[in-house]
This record gives sequence, C-alpha cells and structure tokens, in this order.
Amino acid sequence: MPARHVTCRITIVVALPILGNLSCVSPEPAELPTRSRHSYSRYRLPERHPEMRRAPRRRLTAPSPAPVYEAAWAPAGRKISPRWTTIVIHHSATATGGAAEFDRYHRDANGWDELGYHFVIGNGTHTPDGYIEVGSRWHKQKHGAHCKTTGNYYNEHGIGICLVGDFTKSEPTERQLASLQRLTGFLMHRCGIPPSRLTTHAAVTGKTRCPGGNFKLADLKRSLAPAALASSLR
Ligand SMILES: [Zn+2]
Repeated sequence: MPARHVTCRITIVVALPILGNLSCVSPEPAELPTRSRHSYSRYRLPERHPEMRRAPRRRLTAPSPAPVYEAAWAPAGRKISPRWTTIVIHHSATATGGAAEFDRYHRDANGWDELGYHFVIGNGTHTPDGYIEVGSRWHKQKHGAHCKTTGNYYNEHGIGICLVGDFTKSEPTERQLASLQRLTGFLMHRCGIPPSRLTTHAAVTGKTRCPGGNFKLADLKRSLAPAALASSLR
C-alpha cells in the first residue's frame, strides 16, 4: 500500500540522526578534573571506539595503521627528539595511582627532578581505566628516570611507559592493554623503533620483577609487528 511506504520513510529519516548523535557521546579531556601542582595532558580512548568494541577479551589485536590519536601524544610545541631508540614498560607496583601521585613520590621520596616516566596509563583508580597521561618529561623530550643501568643508556634513550597496577598480583586491564598498544604503535612509528627494541624494566636490568609476570610482552610485540610493517611501507 502506498500510504505505508510513506510512513516508513519518515520514521527512518528522523530516527537516524538522533541515534548517531547519541552513539558519539564520549567524555572529553576538558571534562576531567585537573590537578593543580603539575599539569599533564590527558587522553583516553573514546568509550565506544570501534576497535575497542571489537577487541576480544584478554587478547591484543593489531591497531589501525593510522595513528588517530597522535595529536594528543606529540610533544607540545616541539619535535620528537631523535634520541629515542627503545621503549621500556613498567608497572607501578601499586594497586592505585596516576601521574600526579607518582610525580610526588619521585620528587619527595626519591629526590628526582620530576615524574620518572614519560607516560602513565591509568587503571580506573586515580584516572580512568586506559587513560593515558603524558608526563612533562615527554613534552620536554627529556631523558627518563625509570631504568637505571651502567652508562644510563635506557634512561637516556628509552621512553618510559608505566601501567598503573601490580602485575605480580593482578593483570593489566583490557583498556590499559589497548591503550598501550596504540601508544607504543604510535611511538614506534614516529621514532623508528622496531618491535625488537620494545622491552621491560626486568628484561633490561634483571634486578626487578617490573612489570610483573602477568604482563605479557610477547603478546604486545605480536600485536604490533603488522602495524610496524605497515608503517614502514607507507
Ligand atoms: Zn619498572
């Protein structure tokens, strides 16, 4: 019947824009509380990003070749230094925390100049789950204070990423792993770092369990290899 067809068309045209708007709603960094003493630029993956919806439980998948979030991770007002040759992954060895707390601890307890890591990935305690905080050290393209070795090579040339949590007791969250995958993919692409130069604090020094036995570096490397290859071919 012609009259029914007309009714259906009107319903579809009106409903689609409304649904589209609702599905795109996600918190912006500006809505999150800021901390007064030290400022960090913060970013987290959108709640409903298609890659996160598709990611199977406890398994990393290859990220899109396009570094969608690179604007948030590029150092503010300067180019990425050519000094970076490796990425060192850590856990905080604490159940909770975030960049501001670790920054305070590194200054007050360790007597360091500022937060030792370049990036911190939250676990939903002090910052949202999977939320990436960019330390001021990264914005300055300054050496790290996270992986002491003779000659200090890994602090001079290693990008320090800390996942909040104690992975000797618990596991990183799915969102932390998804954020780590995207961030390391971005850094490897921008700094020309191959998967073989992705490592952990324990693997470098042999003097710590950091980032714990529940963090699987091999899984991360496997997930990043196709992206690194795609990047090198672009
Ligand atoms: Zn460590």
